[in-house]
Amino acid sequence: MSQNKIKSIKKLAEEDIKKIAAGELILSPSSVIKELIENSIDAKSSKIQIITKDKGMKTIKIIDNGIGIPQQNLETICTRFTTNKISKIEDLSHLQSLGFRGEALASISCISHIEIISKTKNQNCAYKASFKNGKIIQPQKETSPPKPIPCAGNDGTQVKMEDLFYNFKSRKNHAIKNLNFNYRIVLSLIAKFSIFYSHISFTLRKEGKKIPELKTNGNSSTFSNITNLYGKDLSNNLIHIHKNFQIESKPVQINAYISKGDTPKVISKNSKIKISTFTLFINNRLILSSSLKHSIEKIYSNLFHSNIHPYSFLSLVLPTEWIDVNICPSKSEIHFLYQKEIHSKIQNFIQEILFQNNSVIPNQFTH
Ligand code: ADP
Ligand code: MG
Repeated sequence: MSQNKIKSIKKLAEEDIKKIAAGELILSPSSVIKELIENSIDAKSSKIQIITKDKGMKTIKIIDNGIGIPQQNLETICTRFTTNKISKIEDLSHLQSLGFRGEALASISCISHIEIISKTKNQNCAYKASFKNGKIIQPQKETSPPKPIPCAGNDGTQVKMEDLFYNFKSRKNHAIKNLNFNYRIVLSLIAKFSIFYSHISFTLRKEGKKIPELKTNGNSSTFSNITNLYGKDLSNNLIHIHKNFQIESKPVQINAYISKGDTPKVISKNSKIKISTFTLFINNRLILSSSLKHSIEKIYSNLFHSNIHPYSFLSLVLPTEWIDVNICPSKSEIHFLYQKEIHSKIQNFIQEILFQNNSVIPNQFTH
């Protein structure tokens, strides 16, 4: 019998540790875009432009008009666990921002090349810096320690990511194999954000192309963005739900658009966007919940006695102290108190309103 030699236990190289951690958060171009859009939203931007090359594998550039990154913070902005959104763990119980882990820029800088140009209102000019493996690097061959360099720029931040997974072969091969699928996820992700954040103007454009793939004007409403992006065949058949109720004397709000029946298969011949049949935001955060999606589908299949794919766009506002957002690095799953009760309330409201089925559609979600 052959005896397996036990390998010695060693700490991994610092670079590999960083790459493994980054790999948990950044799976494809859409993960980069989600993290960068969330940063622009946290920075109170009213305009967010996304430009891609090679479907986000070669370049992703996000330009916002938010508060900017102060010059003195730029140098260390890609250091892991560096954030200005919380200062201690207790802050998580009253979190107002989408980010808090201080991981996204650090992770992205470990699996791609990043350049950031940023200007706050109080600065006379913008500052630019490039990063690798979480650290600022020198743009030219200079001997002095690297520093952000002054440059021209508008108020706000521009993050340019290039060569995604250049140093992560298996992830790159997988992303290239699924290039079109991943790009459809990018489109549907930006559509979901622009529908919910209807007061922000979003533009998605391919580098070198004038006509955007997706554009919203920023002074719109949730309902009109659903119409613009997903078409009238869907929006003409939506029902609005707006309910406030209490659990344990604490306020809960549900705001939703649901379809009267099946989701239309095609928006228009020219549209590249596919309708995402289920979208859930909890306290302004895009959340995955296959259990709620299935229970909503079940209501329709019971009602219509057939397997149909309803459309639902839901926004829940819960007391922040009920929510634990620190479940996974991407923060796309959360735990919250009274989940069962809240899910069953949503199901009851949907069931009830589908029976009535004659609602007036108002224009705006309240954020
Ligand atoms: P987090 O969002 O969890 O704080 P990130 O790594 O995504 O971590 O960003 C680190 C920090 O960089 C943020 O806390 C914020 O202060 C700053 N930052 C990132 N992107 C922007 C942006 N677009 N505008 C202004 N500040 C930004
Ligand atoms: Mg962030």
